[in-house]
Amino acid sequence: MVSRVIPVDDFDLVIFGGTGDLARRKILPGLFRRFHAGQMPSTSRIIGAARSEMDQATYQKEVAGALEEFLPKDARPKDQIDAFLDCIDYVKIDAMGEGGWSELSSKLRSGVVRAFYFSVAPSLFGPLAERLHGHSCAGPKCRIVVEKPFGRDLESAKALNKTLRDHFDEGQIYRIDHYLGKETVQNLMAVRFGNVLFEPLWNAQYVDHVQITVSESVGVEGRGAYYDKSGAMRDMVQNHLMQLLCLTAMEPPSRFDPDAVRDEKLKVIRALDPVDPADIVRGQYTDPKKGRGYLEQVEDPDSITESFIAMKLSVSNWRWAGVPFYLRTGKRMKARYSEIAVVFKDAPHSIFGQDQGRHRNVLTIRLQPNEGMDLFVTIKEPGPGGMRLVDLPLDMTFADALGPEAADVPDAYERLIMDVIRGNQTLFMRGDEVEAAWAWTDPLIEGWTERREKPLPYETGSTGPEEAAMLLHRTGRRWREIRP
Ligand code: NAP
Repeated sequence: MVSRVIPVDDFDLVIFGGTGDLARRKILPGLFRRFHAGQMPSTSRIIGAARSEMDQATYQKEVAGALEEFLPKDARPKDQIDAFLDCIDYVKIDAMGEGGWSELSSKLRSGVVRAFYFSVAPSLFGPLAERLHGHSCAGPKCRIVVEKPFGRDLESAKALNKTLRDHFDEGQIYRIDHYLGKETVQNLMAVRFGNVLFEPLWNAQYVDHVQITVSESVGVEGRGAYYDKSGAMRDMVQNHLMQLLCLTAMEPPSRFDPDAVRDEKLKVIRALDPVDPADIVRGQYTDPKKGRGYLEQVEDPDSITESFIAMKLSVSNWRWAGVPFYLRTGKRMKARYSEIAVVFKDAPHSIFGQDQGRHRNVLTIRLQPNEGMDLFVTIKEPGPGGMRLVDLPLDMTFADALGPEAADVPDAYERLIMDVIRGNQTLFMRGDEVEAAWAWTDPLIEGWTERREKPLPYETGSTGPEEAAMLLHRTGRRWREIRP
């Protein structure tokens, strides 16, 4: 396969929080990879901004250190690193103060794309937006990129949206959900809407149920204080899993354009039924051997915040009436594993007899590890012994199917940053989408908070509480295996 890298236009990108964890781990290495691939013009400027006292050369050293730490050696040839560092600059700015803004303004060029990445706490979004305007850094064509968490409930999300919209048009605001930047997630749209094969079957008549799993093997570790205020519902379901659900369930948009796609996603969120508390299982990991259970890693020993959640959802529309969507996500699970599985119904009649058991077509879209897709089809087991049926995957692991270059696809952050520069908002959340997701989430969280419902314990390295399995067992279904 020949990779086709189309360079983006020349740009100035300011990273507020340019010395932080996200900038060091994801944004800067991602930008370097695009530079190395020839997609980022060498005339572009990346300006780090933070409160730390630093000159340009010191920040360049910091950036070089981050690239060394987060990129493999063979992915960072020295000549390329040196050329990339030439694009790097720094300005000392406190988002809450007035110093440094005129220096920043003087560094920004006219006539090139201008983007501001808010890689800082959301409480700084307002002050930054205000000062960008006050100091003439922002123009009608500039873009801002904001990170999750986008609010912690509907009210705070609305306030945040208002703050940003006071200074920028919706068309200038890029709310990142890095799950949308994953190759497989986009492939889900290609598979659904680029083939005639699946769409006729993609409905209640042929789909038995859908499972979406995002399983992490790590716990909250050093982020206990932050995570305990959030929990799996706010941290994962309201944004990442909701986005995956939308792309799976949405109607075909009329065009692959930002608003057409986002309109359809919004309709899915609005069609979600309220969830019966009996269809929600919340858990907290334990780790008696090492004493590193959830409650040992957060400040509140009586915390009722969940590190695991499984739930059954219904999308109330003609396409999906009666089809359960099962979602689960958790920390300290058996493995780091994420997939969407569309489980089709049994064949209406088996000509092979009862003893052949149940065989089902399943389409799985794997997000991690090894992004790819599998379509399980029922075939005859080769060899003698009569007609014995077996379900085998038609493996569509990108790296195997498309050659080694496919394994080198841009990671989610790289792709999304390049989309910001291109001015393509398709893979970013619109303000009304975020608000609709919170409007659906809030009553659920309020419900278990008011009832003071304690999450169920589950062992580190397991698949969550037993009760999560029961969520499916009671209708004769079962979760797909979480594979290490
Ligand atoms: P972090 O490591 O704490 O870094 C924060 C950055 O903001 C630092 O560069 C800090 O530098 C700067 N900063 C703090 N106060 C400032 C101020 N008043 N004015 C200007 N700069 C200021 O945080 P992070 O992990 O990079 O996260 C940044 C944002 O991304 C947060 O909203 C976080 O929730 C979100 N996020 C992070 C991740 C991740 O993996 N890290 C993932 C998803 C979302 P100085 O102290 O020098 O000012």
